[in-house]
Amino acid sequence: MTKKHVGLYPGTFDPVTKGHMDIITRGCRVVDKLVIAVARNDRKGPLFSTEARVSMVLHDTAPLRDKGFEIEVLPFDNLLVNFAREVGAGVILRGLRAVSDFEYEFQMAGMNARLDAEIETVFLMASEKQQFISSRFVKEIGYLGGDIASFVSPATKLKLEEKFKIMRKSKD
Ligand code: ADP
Repeated sequence: MTKKHVGLYPGTFDPVTKGHMDIITRGCRVVDKLVIAVARNDRKGPLFSTEARVSMVLHDTAPLRDKGFEIEVLPFDNLLVNFAREVGAGVILRGLRAVSDFEYEFQMAGMNARLDAEIETVFLMASEKQQFISSRFVKEIGYLGGDIASFVSPATKLKLEEKFKIMRKSKD
């Protein structure tokens, strides 16, 4: 039997956007199984709990699983290369947006390669239409009442609106 190629796509996914989904769809085409690792990332002060972020990613990836792609969504809060080994991933997938992502991603890939030379980092580019989307701006635009329908799924949009309602109420 040939070995299954497992890819790990880590991120904060606070919340998952159409940009992430573009990378996930491409990722499914290059590995046999994709593990989406949702970072606890408490230091970044995420808007959604880890459980809520996992559940949103699970929801948005259901159509891909229905198409037969093998996708697992797991929370993690340990060292990325250790988590990659735990799930049997030989490759870490990351998305590259503009030049602004490059320096951080370049450093992270280099450091991870030092920590485990067996694990390769592969960068994927989202389509032109989704490249500029970032979770941070989706949150800012949404909070200020802008239309975020083209950046996230309808289910995620609802979750964001619920959060904003609570946030606005607690401000009053
Ligand atoms: P992190 O905190 O690890 O940066 P994110 O959820 O912001 O987590 O991003 C996870 C990965 O997805 C990163 O590699 C990021 O560059 C990539 N990514 C996010 N949005 C997009 C997008 N619109 N197009 C391409 N890649 C993206």
